[in-house]
Amino acid sequence: MTGERYDVAIIGAGVVGCAIAREFSRYRLRAILIEALSDLGGGASKGNSAILSTGSDTPIGSLECRLVTRGHERYRAEAPGLGLPILSVGSLTVAWNEAEAAALARMHAEIASAGFRSAELVDREAVYRRVPALAPGAVAAVWEPEEAIVDPFSTPYAYALDAVVNGVAFRASSPVTAALHDGEAWHLATPQGPVAAGLVVNCGGLWGDRVDALAGFADFTIRPRRGEFLVFDKSARQLLDVVLKPVPTPQYRGVLAAPTVFGNVLVGPTAEDVDDPDDWRVTGAGLDRLRRAARAMLPALLEHEVTATYCGLRPASERPEYRIVARPDRRWITVGGIRSTGLSGALGIAEHVAGLAFDGMLPAERKAETIPVRVPSLLEGGARPWMDAARLAADPAYGEIVCHCEGVSLGEIRDALASPLPPRSLKALRRRTRAMFGRCQGFFCGARVLAELERHARRAGRAAQ
Ligand SMILES: Cc1cc2nc3c(=O)[nH]c(=O)nc-3n(C[C@H](O)[C@H](O)[C@H](O)COP(=O)(O)OP(=O)(O)OC[C@H]3O[C@@H](n4cnc5c(N)ncnc54)[C@H](O)[C@@H]3O)c2cc1C
Repeated sequence: MTGERYDVAIIGAGVVGCAIAREFSRYRLRAILIEALSDLGGGASKGNSAILSTGSDTPIGSLECRLVTRGHERYRAEAPGLGLPILSVGSLTVAWNEAEAAALARMHAEIASAGFRSAELVDREAVYRRVPALAPGAVAAVWEPEEAIVDPFSTPYAYALDAVVNGVAFRASSPVTAALHDGEAWHLATPQGPVAAGLVVNCGGLWGDRVDALAGFADFTIRPRRGEFLVFDKSARQLLDVVLKPVPTPQYRGVLAAPTVFGNVLVGPTAEDVDDPDDWRVTGAGLDRLRRAARAMLPALLEHEVTATYCGLRPASERPEYRIVARPDRRWITVGGIRSTGLSGALGIAEHVAGLAFDGMLPAERKAETIPVRVPSLLEGGARPWMDAARLAADPAYGEIVCHCEGVSLGEIRDALASPLPPRSLKALRRRTRAMFGRCQGFFCGARVLAELERHARRAGRAAQ
């Protein structure tokens, strides 16, 4: 196997691989991001709670805690420049009885002494002032004002777009099926042809152990943890303006209720260990459990329609910790087990991985300048092109609304398709624009959105997927 030669190949375009690709794009390196699926962000990164955690809910003193804390800090500093919204709604971890209140007080003391100083123990009156619709019976809570909600779909896209515009190659539909080291470089086999790279960074998420196995490493096993969600209609958003969490146990953080940046309220996730990293089923039992949890926290939620359900899979491993391993002698870095906090931690992980790579595996020559990129903000109530008279006058396609539930215009769909990193599937186009994500789930606009995707694919000389 020969193929194009790169300094570094990143396998897996989930939020973590995309953040690492962006990090390397700041240096004078030939880098490539290789993804098995037809688009980025289609693995674990497509289904999560969309909470930008401060790190206080990770094991204190762990690598995960350090990298999530750093990731949170960097997200706040860098995401606005990329056009990504952050809503600092804060979170309330609520105790419902005296035993939970005692556990909550211990949790508060632990996180405060670990440096999460803005976390505050509050009484029941303060809890009901923040969430008047909360079910009766709350005893106390920990208020964390720095917890935020973010756009989970645009985040990996923004990182990957930034990476590509700044010189990183992106190869989709390219599962790496073999990895051989000839003493000088790795030779990776993909259906689109081989790739040679001096250093490989495995960000394979749910398949991370299998990617490691291609190179002969077997340090950890992925144990996918399913989590199902209910998404309530935008009419429910008036009930909740903070993230509501139960008191966690060492095994499970429990079902939360959270507003989304798209204007909905979500309830989830469940937690179920499974063997199959492709088990994205939503089950009757899971939905019953979520409905019960919703009723217990916020009974009025059940008066609102459910817009959607989905399932996410956490790339957990047999240990409750990130599994980041550098092998300088083999020029291979494993970034595995990024289980429940990868959206928050990705920028911290990327910085850490770059530090490992530049410690003898790659030269660290920083570029003097980078090209800035911005993705369209999909924040509910945020500025959209059809609100801008000048853009409407310049291009009437911004005034032609295709998805009425989410207010997505033809111009926005065409912009997404014209991106240097265009969506290759209907699901990817949904994630880039919100089209078909609303109350009717594409019943009204689905055929039109698909026709636009197919027209674009025909022009680009390939089939829509
Ligand atoms: C229910 C749930 C709730 C969560 N809530 C939150 C939250 O609120 N906040 C938060 O910060 N995090 C949350 N997370 C965690 C977060 O979603 C994950 O940590 C993160 O998405 C992991 O990203 P990743 O890039 O490591 O993996 P992935 O997104 O799975 O990316 C791995 C990529 O590698 C590709 N790949 C695999 N094998 C190959 C191969 N052989 N060749 C090429 N490509 C390959 C895959 O196709 C995939 O695209 C949650 C997760 C779940 C499931």
